[in-house]
Amino acid sequence: MRIASLQKQSLIDWPSKMVAVVFTKGCNFRCGYCHNPSLVLPALYNQTPNIDPSEVLRYLTDRASWLDGLVVTGGEPTIQKGLKHFLNEAKKLGYSIKLDTNGSNPNLLHELIESKLVDTVAMDIKTLLDASMYAVITNTSEPNLIASVKESLDILRHSKIHYQLRTTVLPNHHNQSVIAELEKMFGEENYCLQEFRDVGTLGDICNCSREPDRC
Ligand code: SF4
Repeated sequence: MRIASLQKQSLIDWPSKMVAVVFTKGCNFRCGYCHNPSLVLPALYNQTPNIDPSEVLRYLTDRASWLDGLVVTGGEPTIQKGLKHFLNEAKKLGYSIKLDTNGSNPNLLHELIESKLVDTVAMDIKTLLDASMYAVITNTSEPNLIASVKESLDILRHSKIHYQLRTTVLPNHHNQSVIAELEKMFGEENYCLQEFRDVGTLGDICNCSREPDRC
């Protein structure tokens, strides 16, 4: 498991909880609006050392009575080998766990929920569930992507855990009719629209025209 950094305490990543936040390296998407290019582009994250998961677990052990939870974000955490083991170790310490995901790995998501290793999931809905629209935002043309995202949604909807769906609104893509359609699809759920901040994005430093495994 490749961990880029550990934020030792945060009050904003999980409302009303004091949490530690683990940032993982690598992502299978290349969203131009991404604010974490240093966690997404290998040319950047390969310049920084990985933090050993055991070091993070040692910190979590020391702070178990003081912290309320652990947030795992990235990058895309579900591409990490060893994620399940890591979460299992954190659970043994009594942590509540929040996972951020882009929804592209339903099998692992299902496994983590079934194993009771996550308590809440925040999943991106990049745009309408249409292959060409997703390809525009994510700069990936993975053939089964929409099926995977739909399956992840289905898993969350049929699970008993809390989840949140969220869309970052991009002025050039999410016009009023797209927003209206998204709200029609997800408005009855725990769904939020997030404001795009056009600063320090992946699109500023990469033209994002290549597939993730080549970028
Ligand atoms: S915004 Fe896109 S590229 Fe950035 S971490 Fe999330 S899914 Fe990956």
